[in-house]
Amino acid sequence: MEFLDTLNALHPAVLVGFALLLGAVVGSFLNVVILRLPAQMFYDWRCQCRELLEIEDKEAAPPGLVFPSSHCPKCKTSIAWYDNIPILSWLLLRARCRHCGVGISWRYPLFELATALLTAAVIWHFGVTAEGLAALVLTWVLVAATGIDFDHHLLPDQITLPLLWLGLALNLGFGLFASLEDAVIGAIAGYGVLWTIFHLFRLLTGKEGMGFGDFKLLAALGAWLGWQALPLIVLLASIVGAVAGLTLMVALRRGREIPIAFGPYLAIAGWIALLWGDRILDFWLY
Ligand SMILES: [Zn+2]
Repeated sequence: MEFLDTLNALHPAVLVGFALLLGAVVGSFLNVVILRLPAQMFYDWRCQCRELLEIEDKEAAPPGLVFPSSHCPKCKTSIAWYDNIPILSWLLLRARCRHCGVGISWRYPLFELATALLTAAVIWHFGVTAEGLAALVLTWVLVAATGIDFDHHLLPDQITLPLLWLGLALNLGFGLFASLEDAVIGAIAGYGVLWTIFHLFRLLTGKEGMGFGDFKLLAALGAWLGWQALPLIVLLASIVGAVAGLTLMVALRRGREIPIAFGPYLAIAGWIALLWGDRILDFWLY
């Protein structure tokens, strides 16, 4: 813990600067996860389908999460380290590949910037403590889950389930964010509440408003923060979702039928509850 004390003794501005840098680098990796993890899942599912149907066809495996290193999707040139610096490279290259000039999406620097700011906010709030480090992990996983759900309307079990176990484990060993009892009830209630809403909604309207990934994500948030945080998370997610949904409807001039993933709103609401949940609940209840 001496190392943590040394870090905490730094000037707050220096600490936040470090956090911004760390967040940008992690954000750069999360971009890769958001891009490659779904590709791997789809590949696995196709393999299982072929096996089940006894189809002999083969296809090349998609890239792993770490190797091979990033390359341009058009000209396939490997991206050199100096063209892979979070946020800066995108600005310096003016959003174009150095070799073939194909446009690079603004999403990459956006996620790097967002992760940098969220990382700095967590360190500012918790300091370099056990809670702070755990909160960083939760924050980064929520960013990855948001990106993947936004793209594919899918919250991978590979993300939600380990997040749930980790939340329980942290509260089991150290009671970091909630007592073990509150965490276990949070996990059960988080899943159960959305499961119930899902089935009621389907019974009444014949439509499916959410996916099972949403139940698991709320279960994970319950396991991390305890059941007391759940009403706040569902309420905040609904508010953020309604505002964002209306904005999208107006912006895209589309009807109510555009499917919108609920996961990103749960993730945003969960993150707000992680940092300010206690304060909001105190304000609310007293
Ligand atoms: Zn290129």
